[in-house]
Amino acid sequence: MSSQVAREPYVLVADKGLDAGVARLTDEKIAKVIGAVLEAEGGARLKAYVDTCAHCGLCSEACHFFHSHDRDPRYSPVGKVKQTMWEILDKGGNVSPEFIGRAARVAYTECNLCKRCAMYCPFGIDIAYVIGLMRRICHKLGVTPQYIQDTAHSHSATMNQMWVKEDEWIDSLMWQEAEARDEVPDLRIPLEKHGAEIMYSVIGPEPKFRTQLIYQAAVIMHAAGVDWTMPATPGWDNSDMAMYSGDYEIMGRLKRAHFETAQRLGVKRIVMGECGHAFRSVHDVGNRWLGWKGEPVPVVHAVQFYHELLSSGKIKIKDKFGEAVTFHDPCNIVRGMGLHEMGREVTRALCTELVEMTPNREHNYCCSAGGGVINCGPPFRNTRVLGNKIKAEQLAATGVKTVIAPCHNCHGGLEDIIHHYKLDMKIKFLGDVIYECMEKPWAEA
Ligand code: SF4
Ligand code: SF4
Ligand code: SF4
Repeated sequence: MSSQVAREPYVLVADKGLDAGVARLTDEKIAKVIGAVLEAEGGARLKAYVDTCAHCGLCSEACHFFHSHDRDPRYSPVGKVKQTMWEILDKGGNVSPEFIGRAARVAYTECNLCKRCAMYCPFGIDIAYVIGLMRRICHKLGVTPQYIQDTAHSHSATMNQMWVKEDEWIDSLMWQEAEARDEVPDLRIPLEKHGAEIMYSVIGPEPKFRTQLIYQAAVIMHAAGVDWTMPATPGWDNSDMAMYSGDYEIMGRLKRAHFETAQRLGVKRIVMGECGHAFRSVHDVGNRWLGWKGEPVPVVHAVQFYHELLSSGKIKIKDKFGEAVTFHDPCNIVRGMGLHEMGREVTRALCTELVEMTPNREHNYCCSAGGGVINCGPPFRNTRVLGNKIKAEQLAATGVKTVIAPCHNCHGGLEDIIHHYKLDMKIKFLGDVIYECMEKPWAEA
């Protein structure tokens, strides 16, 4: 039925990285790279998925792109695989440069690797894995969107995604410490404290654009009496766009640097700020690619950490946030780690009323920024917001004015959706609400 609906013609979004990459391709190079990636990295998992898929289309209902594009089969999970990996397998790797240009757009910008569809496939086929492998081929072919490639280059050169130099990083922390000391005179942001209980790590954009989050984290740590430190060296950035560009070699270097920094400092565990994709990389993908059985230093996401601080009474709430809020479940910590109930317990401890989106928890729709799509930059902003009309409807149906999202990328994606669909809503991190509502003994002294 849906395939009979007249469809808008597919418009190829111009992107310097993709277009220049395609212009450099030859048929021989494509066949060689595809052959090498499939032989070395395709393996039994890809074969099992390809052999098992019944082409039933049940996964379509799972995807926000499919719903937001009037059930256009081109945007269904299996439709995206058909336009990419299956065509490659059918043709034995003999596909044209133009095909690679289109397949790269599908893989990098029309799938958030959110894994919602894997829950709706009767065989549990993980389309995100197949699309990730397609990205790997595109990366090896040098056909990558310009913005995400720039980010991966920055990671490679500076070990953080924002070209923050070592002295700028230290300056930013000292600046936030000085600001916070106006509020809490004896507050410190401990740098290079060997043997501390916790190393606190953040994503590259925090010292660049969201320094208030470092300020707030320092106040929370101080109030809770936590023995913590931050590193003064590269290794502080836990984010990972190389994981999403398909550059697994850089991903491995980043994860190694992050964990080796924690080991050098001799901390007992790493606490991460509120980021979903960084957690996926540090907790799961990066470790596995390095061949490690688990994390060499235990990693705790901010949601888990806040839960611990609130339930142990180390942080006390003075006045709850007085407006009704809704809670956005970030895929990477919910489908990826099952933190949905913990996120709600923290939210309920902070707010007077929680109104659920429908569907929610592990069935929640992605914000459409995930999987590095937001990092593909302004050329693909419309791809994201038009591909997630259903999220706007889901948000609007709650009737509340505040959405809490414990993930940086979700913030970026939801901000664009709220702006584009003119929703009267604002977005907060859990840390924002804790900072606003917690007891601050120094303020009463
Ligand atoms: S965006 Fe999510 S639901 Fe849609 S195909 Fe990709 S992984 Fe599946
Ligand atoms: S991935 Fe699963 S749900 Fe989707 S078409 Fe294949 S078998 Fe059906
Ligand atoms: S950005 Fe947020 S909602 Fe989107 S895939 Fe990542 S964690 Fe999920």
